[in-house]
Amino acid sequence: MEQLDYIKESLDIKDPNITFEKTFDKFFTHREYHAKLDYDPPQCSVCQGKMAKYDFQKPCKIPYLEMAGCKVLIRLKKRRFKCQACGKMAVAKTSLVRENHQIPNIINHKITDKLMSREAMTKIAEDLSVSVSTVYRQLNRFECKTDLTWLPENMSWDEYAFKKGKMSFIAQDFDANKIIAILDGRTQAVIRNHFMRYSHKVSSRVKVITMDMFSPYYDIAKQLFPKAKIVLDRFHIVQHLSRAMNRFRIQIMNQFEHQSYEYKALKRYWKLIQQDSRNLNDKRFYRPTFRMHLTNQEIVQRLLSYSDELRHHYELFQCLLFHFQEKQEKHFFELISDTIKQVHPIFKTVLSTFLKDKEKIINALKLPYSNAKLEATNNLIKVIKRNAFGFRNFENFKKRIYLALNTTKEKTKLVLSRCYTQ
Ligand SMILES: [Zn+2]
Repeated sequence: MEQLDYIKESLDIKDPNITFEKTFDKFFTHREYHAKLDYDPPQCSVCQGKMAKYDFQKPCKIPYLEMAGCKVLIRLKKRRFKCQACGKMAVAKTSLVRENHQIPNIINHKITDKLMSREAMTKIAEDLSVSVSTVYRQLNRFECKTDLTWLPENMSWDEYAFKKGKMSFIAQDFDANKIIAILDGRTQAVIRNHFMRYSHKVSSRVKVITMDMFSPYYDIAKQLFPKAKIVLDRFHIVQHLSRAMNRFRIQIMNQFEHQSYEYKALKRYWKLIQQDSRNLNDKRFYRPTFRMHLTNQEIVQRLLSYSDELRHHYELFQCLLFHFQEKQEKHFFELISDTIKQVHPIFKTVLSTFLKDKEKIINALKLPYSNAKLEATNNLIKVIKRNAFGFRNFENFKKRIYLALNTTKEKTKLVLSRCYTQ
């Protein structure tokens, strides 16, 4: 008897009506435990009459948590009862699995834990030896509710491709990095319909809306939140500048033969060009491309020596970056006005947009946002993009993001336990 209790305890099964058989089957891939579910006959649910023990059901296969790295399957035989008065049949119930379900609650909890992580749906299914549709079923037990009683003071608006060609609109709480809305589509109508649901009192809480430079949302944001300041996202401003630098480097690079070592060096050390020159590492390492020991600063000097044009634009890029980061808006825009006529068209496009959106950029520089927050937002965007793959269904995509970003573990357990007791 002791041995049997041990199996039960090590599997952490609490239901006193389940007893395990002494032996289990070892397979190459997994172990199979045999157990019975049995207890005294309950009252008939139909006529309240007396029930009697009948036979056992065919064992049901319950995939269970791994034990010591080995996959576990429980073959559970459930007692059947028959009403002596009306003949109604009933099957014994257990806290291990919900009625008419095969997946134990503990596995469903594990799935939820993993849904809050950033793992792919297929990986979750594989790890827990359940089907992908079981993982989706668990995801579908969650609901994304919109809290219409609250909006943050600082909101950021963005759009993401949730799958190829399908864009979705995402509003976040800039300070807490929480998702406020994920909308299927990004048209003005979709956005208007969503935000019109909030009362005027709630809407007027919003003080700042940050968004990307080429955003199509300026007008609608002004209409919906007339009191809010529209601010360009600092992260995006830097990103546009960096992209221009990168595209320009590629143009220069392509002027060289693909076999040349100028081409190879410009291709290999692209990151050093993009990096803020103040942060270049000055440790000396052996560099196979140059066949000598060089610091990152020395590498950049070599790259720039290949082309005066590259040097010229690199210096402009670094100066703009510097003024921007130091919040010297006057210098930033003076430099743009002074150089815009002479720069390459790639830079001209970006710089003229900066001039057009001057006011919104100045707003961005004046607001007291820390870089840490920008960093966090940046990470959030990456997570969303990564999570976005493999979802055909928008609702699932949305639920997954909500679970990954908005729920704390404690909260979810509460929600879940409520689900189970229903
Ligand atoms: Zn009955």
